[in-house]
Amino acid sequence: MKITNIKARTALIPIEAPTRHSYGSPDAFSRTILEVETDEGITGLGETFSWISDSSFDGVRNIVIGEDPFNLEKIRVKISQNNYLSRHPLLLAPIEFACYDIQGKMLGRPVYQLLGGKVRERVPISAYLFYRYPDNEGKGEIRTPEQMVGHTRELVNKYGFRSLKLKGGVFDPEHEFETIVALREQFGSEYKLRFDPNAIWASSTAIRMGNKLSDYDLEYYEDPAWGLNAMANVRSKVPQPLATNMSVIEFEQLGPAVAMGAVDVILTDPWYYGGLLHTKYLDMMCKTFGLSVGMHSGTEFGIGLTAMLHVAATMPNLVHAMDSHYHHLTDDILVGGLLKYKDGCMAPSDAPGLGVQLDEDKMTKYEALFLERMQDKNASTALDPKRPGWYPIVPSW
Ligand code: MG
Repeated sequence: MKITNIKARTALIPIEAPTRHSYGSPDAFSRTILEVETDEGITGLGETFSWISDSSFDGVRNIVIGEDPFNLEKIRVKISQNNYLSRHPLLLAPIEFACYDIQGKMLGRPVYQLLGGKVRERVPISAYLFYRYPDNEGKGEIRTPEQMVGHTRELVNKYGFRSLKLKGGVFDPEHEFETIVALREQFGSEYKLRFDPNAIWASSTAIRMGNKLSDYDLEYYEDPAWGLNAMANVRSKVPQPLATNMSVIEFEQLGPAVAMGAVDVILTDPWYYGGLLHTKYLDMMCKTFGLSVGMHSGTEFGIGLTAMLHVAATMPNLVHAMDSHYHHLTDDILVGGLLKYKDGCMAPSDAPGLGVQLDEDKMTKYEALFLERMQDKNASTALDPKRPGWYPIVPSW
């Protein structure tokens, strides 16, 4: 079997309302969907970040076409050592997902079985709580602690979440502290509660706020400040475990993070680490160093979420519910529409490969939406459309 073509298209799907975080406020999520074709008529699906356009694959297309999709290590080496400046994890990951999809379809096996098999039937997912601007009808703003509690109650009732993650780094730290207090008062110890200021605080602020939060039983305190030195400093002075998806984003940073005592929880990510197999390796490396494991979300659509679920189901050390922005989406490009939550969990499909199919009509519709957005320079470049010209200064508090 040989790979004959790689096709990449970018789609933009509206979300319920603009989500606010320290680096902006999107009103839609965009992702690039990959189709890897073979000479045996089997096509594999992949997904990656939207700035990885079809032309981004030009540099690797010729070195992947002609390869057997079962020769993943060879494909990985050829892509990641194409030059010494960049290992191309965001190009490699979607190609790897698609190759596993092809392998599974050919063998009649789900991808999780190609990754060692499941250690859990269902993967717990957290409610991803964002402050929000109002939607187009002026409704649904989430700014006050009471609004956040009401929104969280709706999500818990609708999806069954037992883990709650507040994305902060938007308002004054005291306001966000009051939001955590309100959430903890309304959601008792049967709910895990994590807080992520998104690396926008100075370490002095992160230390002060971490100590103020000591009575509110945080599952972990995620990236309260930016960089390994700041994380190590904060970690030595606050009571909570520290988690990161911003200070450790590649294997090379794991060693210094361990040596510096900078972190307790590594939030894995199949894109950052160049695919599903290396996410499994990271899981085992974390156990070796006594670190706990969770999983980061990057606004994935259903193909990406499905890939995450396949590997998450096989990771023995994944003790923290994985994050996913998915419940903010209003639609998906999959046949059957949005994937379903059950009791705050999802399970990977048992069908061959990833077990999902691309809905061509929806892909066409949302690709057109992306292209339309790209025509509008202001809309496509503004980090926060409600604050024209705004850009983040790190640290901001
Ligand atoms: Mg994070």
